[in-house]
Amino acid sequence: AGSLAVLARLESPSMAATVVDEIGIAAVRGQGSRIWDEAGREYLDLTAGSGVHALGHGDPGVLAAMHAQLDRFAHGGWQVSSPARADLSEQLAARLPWPDPVLLWCTTGSEAVEAALKTARCATGRRQVLGFLGGYHGKTAGALAVTANSAYRSVATEVPVAGLSLPYPVAPGYLHRDAAQQQGLRFGQEILEHPDFGAADVGGLIVETVQGAGGMNAAAPGLLSELRSFCSARGQLLIVDEIFTGFGRTGAGFGFEHEGVVPDLVVLGKALGGGLPLSLVAGPRALLDAVPPLRQTSTFSANPVACAAGAAVLKRLAADDLAARAAALGERLVAGVAAAAPPHVRLETLGRGLMVGVRIAEAPADDRAAFTRAVLARMRSMGVFALRGGTDGAVVKWTPPLTIAEDEIDQSVGVFAQALAMQSA
Ligand code: PMP
Repeated sequence: AGSLAVLARLESPSMAATVVDEIGIAAVRGQGSRIWDEAGREYLDLTAGSGVHALGHGDPGVLAAMHAQLDRFAHGGWQVSSPARADLSEQLAARLPWPDPVLLWCTTGSEAVEAALKTARCATGRRQVLGFLGGYHGKTAGALAVTANSAYRSVATEVPVAGLSLPYPVAPGYLHRDAAQQQGLRFGQEILEHPDFGAADVGGLIVETVQGAGGMNAAAPGLLSELRSFCSARGQLLIVDEIFTGFGRTGAGFGFEHEGVVPDLVVLGKALGGGLPLSLVAGPRALLDAVPPLRQTSTFSANPVACAAGAAVLKRLAADDLAARAAALGERLVAGVAAAAPPHVRLETLGRGLMVGVRIAEAPADDRAAFTRAVLARMRSMGVFALRGGTDGAVVKWTPPLTIAEDEIDQSVGVFAQALAMQSA
């Protein structure tokens, strides 16, 4: 009866078709890296809510900060400052790479990407921003314009969107971990020769240091430095989208720190709000102030409860050096996966830190995406859930809380190996 009730809720007729539920769990409670459903079943959550919960579900420090702010006031609007916002601003200023960073507060990741694109236009006077193959920056119109996924983009290109004037150039991708896929650093040349746009009108590049939705492709060594020089030489802004990779997930405070590169703009979200919606664009004042007053605001931006939660997250990340922990646990995970493939299955590990993708590169099935979906369903029935990604749909994604225990990493690998073996039998 319990599972029937769960099913009824999952198949609620109010769900729009675009919201595909590949996990299939009606969660009622979360704690640390675990979630429980209505029937009381326990699951290990390898998604951390799409990389949001750096400290796991229900962290006591985050909850206490949220509760305290709720007791004061829940929402004042961007026109009203709050000690919570000031506290988080101070935390961020200490970690961002410019002497006096300016923050443009938003609510969702996509919205902050829109704000970054607008900033690039205002600051450079040029209209275009380029994204990368495999890149993902959101599904609102502007963010979609720099997102490479053709299935996602087709909706916006086929259906006219009023006022949408951003062009859709996508630079060739160089973000594959496998050096053989990089084809050398022909990046600059390909942009200049791209037939769809004139380089003179390009105001910036937007890049992830590890492509999340694209399948956990880590930036090849040297790529970010190359992009930095490329942008500086052309007066373009280097916009680094750290929405997924920020706050320790890749084993450094921010992904760009691995190469000591200083971006022009950084976009943050996900873990920033400690589980509540919060995002921003950060950069030096000269760039952010190019956007005139009132051109980029939104009702729920810098929500004080989210800011209080985020400040608690940032303090804990620093106090416990969770970036170092992410690096170490990522290595443990990748080492475990190396031994997980049964005969006739070949696995590739991708990503960095606790942002890991395992591509099922060869499987005893023609349709690797379907094979991967079946492996995930088997894992779920064994109490572990994860999301699928990659342009081939054959990447199993590990983006757990940075606080996940070592034996939970081992459990996830063990269950993955078992599911692979069962699906291959
Ligand atoms: N950029 C990146 C790198 C992301 O991973 C995401 C979300 N997965 C976004 C942008 C969009 O953020 P949101 O879903 O909060 O709008």
